[in-house]
Amino acid sequence: AQIMARGLPKQKPIEGVKQVIVVASGKGGVGKSTTAVNLALALAANDSSKAIGLLDVDVYGPSIPKMMNLKGNPELSQSNLMRPLLNYGIACMSMGFLVEETAPVVWRGLMVMSAIEKLLRQVDWGQLDYLVVDMPPGTGDVQLSVSQNIPISGAVIVSTPQDIALMDAHKGAEMFRKVHVPVLGLIQNMSVFQCPNCKHKTHIFGADGARKLAQTLDLDVLGDIPLHLSIREASDTGQPIVYSQPESDELIPGLEALLVSH
Ligand code: ADP
Repeated sequence: AQIMARGLPKQKPIEGVKQVIVVASGKGGVGKSTTAVNLALALAANDSSKAIGLLDVDVYGPSIPKMMNLKGNPELSQSNLMRPLLNYGIACMSMGFLVEETAPVVWRGLMVMSAIEKLLRQVDWGQLDYLVVDMPPGTGDVQLSVSQNIPISGAVIVSTPQDIALMDAHKGAEMFRKVHVPVLGLIQNMSVFQCPNCKHKTHIFGADGARKLAQTLDLDVLGDIPLHLSIREASDTGQPIVYSQPESDELIPGLEALLVSH
């Protein structure tokens, strides 16, 4: 009754999963999936004794299969649960494994909800220390139902420094507060581009918008990631930057900071 009084349905942990971290954004295309993938890999690299999973609930545009260089249909366990696919030591599950790569997801709300239910409850993760969840962009039904169905340790919000992205990131942060999910902080992505020839730096989407938003919301900026050709190439070839260039500190500041501070 107490839980209902707060307006929240009962949350049930995902079996075998200790902590869930969601990666969210207000807008699409700001680097949310890139962050989710690299965060999962950074968590694994940071402590090899930890078991890490990556769940892609971005049902309309799943990117995890491509970014993690995985495809195929999950096998079923004896108890009829889907087995995650594995690459770079990360157990992955995505809507992209269940539908054709080029098939558009043209679903009514109820079908989306049953897909989410399947992804949340019908996966055999074994034992995981962290499950990183790649949310869809925005603050819709999927984000709400994920936040209300499973206990979430924290949310990381990704934004570019552009006003329109920040405005939506602000809404995202407010949504998590409403459903009592702690926001761990913001990641500013694509803030600066350095010309490889002349080394001139350009702030294509603005310089420090996320910092200002973080101040307004009293949150930390967990990372500030430049717009860099290697990051885009790494995503497109399914060799995420934290895996393929672990030494390149210039490109992955913040991810480590995120792990240390939380
Ligand atoms: P979202 O999940 O927010 O839609 P993605 O992570 O899919 O965004 O990123 C959108 C595109 O931008 C992808 O092609 C990705 O490779 C690229 N990208 C993301 N972050 C960077 C970056 N810092 N530098 C270069 N390309 C990036």
